[in-house]
Amino acid sequence: AAQKETLGFQTEVKQLLNLMIHSLYSNKEIFLRELVSNASDAADKLRFLALSDGNLYQGDANLRVRISADSEKGTVTISDNGIGMTREEVISSLGTIAKSGTADFFKNLTGDQAKDSQLIGQFGVGFYSAFIVADSVTVRTRKAGEAKAIEWHSQGEGEYTLAEIGKEDRGTEIILHLREDEKEFASDYRLKSIVTKYSDHIAIPVEMWEEGTPESEGPDGEKIVATEGQWQAINRATALWTRDKSELSDDEYKEFYKHVSHDWEEPLTWAHNKVEGKTEYTSLLYIPKKAPFDLWNRDRQSGLKLYVQRVFIMDDAEQFMPSYLRFVKGLLDSNDLPLNVSREILQDNKVTQAIRKGCTSRVLKMLDRMGKNRPEEYQVFWNEFGQVMKEGPAEDFAHKEDIAKLLRFASTLSDESTQNVSLTDYIERMKEGQDKIYYVVADSFGAAKNSPHLEIFRKKGIEVLLLSDRVDEWMMSHLTEFDGKQLRSVTRGDLDLGSLDDEQTKQEQAEAEKAVEGLVERVNTALTGKVKEVRFTHRLTDSPACVVTDENDMSSQMAKLMASVGQ
Ligand code: ADP
Ligand code: MG
Repeated sequence: AAQKETLGFQTEVKQLLNLMIHSLYSNKEIFLRELVSNASDAADKLRFLALSDGNLYQGDANLRVRISADSEKGTVTISDNGIGMTREEVISSLGTIAKSGTADFFKNLTGDQAKDSQLIGQFGVGFYSAFIVADSVTVRTRKAGEAKAIEWHSQGEGEYTLAEIGKEDRGTEIILHLREDEKEFASDYRLKSIVTKYSDHIAIPVEMWEEGTPESEGPDGEKIVATEGQWQAINRATALWTRDKSELSDDEYKEFYKHVSHDWEEPLTWAHNKVEGKTEYTSLLYIPKKAPFDLWNRDRQSGLKLYVQRVFIMDDAEQFMPSYLRFVKGLLDSNDLPLNVSREILQDNKVTQAIRKGCTSRVLKMLDRMGKNRPEEYQVFWNEFGQVMKEGPAEDFAHKEDIAKLLRFASTLSDESTQNVSLTDYIERMKEGQDKIYYVVADSFGAAKNSPHLEIFRKKGIEVLLLSDRVDEWMMSHLTEFDGKQLRSVTRGDLDLGSLDDEQTKQEQAEAEKAVEGLVERVNTALTGKVKEVRFTHRLTDSPACVVTDENDMSSQMAKLMASVGQ
């Protein structure tokens, strides 16, 4: 027999296994969803490689996954004839976690089971979920086009073994040796109901064995012929996005989301569209409920799953979404791109551009609709992804106005830090005679809220937006107008409240200014070289003085930002 080797899991895998077995206990049956999802991915990958090398099918092009149970042995077996894995791939896929930022993720775990299981959902545990119900797992796999097969075995406790084996068919077979108290899963009936619940949308057939019946006699003595046992598909086995919207239920869309996104959480909303005309494609785009743990990681993969005429081409095609929408998940199925399309071809391609434009508008519309019709859900979205959306005005000039509509701010209306005021709300509340949208940017929400620049606005009852996120200053430098109204920082230049000041106030101000003329001159002399100019101002009501930026100069916030990067 071939030699058996023992290898150790990466530290993170050990942590993950431990955590998962405890925290996902209430949701055990999802192990099957994860394993079927992987089998379907493996079929997609094989079909893709076979586009350029048909021999890989070795006469078996009917890709499917089969599930069977042995109640005596207490095992469940999931086997596919997809791409399979080499020895190296087994080690890297089943012994390590390849995701970027994994170490950081584990640092965030608290030991509090409820909180941690939430996090685990965001992380997605995939294959390892097998250990929720199994006390040992065997994986037998042979990569398409290779002669050697490999067997992986583990009790999920820090180590696994590898051995070379003989395996007749290509693909992967996963055998779960069920825990003593999970033997109920070794039942066809139970397995079938789980597949129907979670995996009906899987595009390849999910098959289970149906026993044959022996020859028998009918009620009138006629002969009923025997039937043979056979593998039968228990799912619909059509790609979900090719089906008609009207025949799809929310639950189907939600389960499909979990499959394409590898997220465990349900999506917040989605849009499914068939586009016809010059460019033809189907898009199914989802907004997640939770930001992934590595949203800010630069190496993080994002983008859509790309299909060409129903054939899977690649994961993470980032060319179809602008960077400020990088949290969008889902897929595209194009009729115009060639089957041999590569990332390089996508890069600089008219079809890509047309689809990207279409998808961008689609997402912005979907968000706008959610903002209008379901404000609570929109708030969830904004709290998770608002910071990313704020990159929009700088990145996407063409959609600036649509993006601006989606922005949410804290404001002096409530003085709360929750960002829930839209520019449209603000405009509706504008004072008679007010023609600008006022805002202040500071390092922190507290500093923004307590800015002395706000005194006059508070006194006059004019709402001011309170901005304190890192990207705010940069965003505002690209957002100067909305709905025909200027956006104006309260710290900039001459504060002209225009017709908001009545005649009497103007007169009083003129008198007040006259009264301090001499003082202003003295302070100006004293501060020569330190400031550009000392001016009389009406903008303060309680504080004696404040620093403002000249109309055309860098704002003080921007100056700090530049200084911090050494400019
Ligand atoms: P994910 O599906 O999110 O990549 P999983 O933990 O579910 O994460 O799977 C890890 C990896 O193991 C997959 O990306 C794939 O490379 C490999 N894998 C798992 N199951 C199979 C399978 N049935 N056939 C081929 N490869 C598989
Ligand atoms: Mg998976």
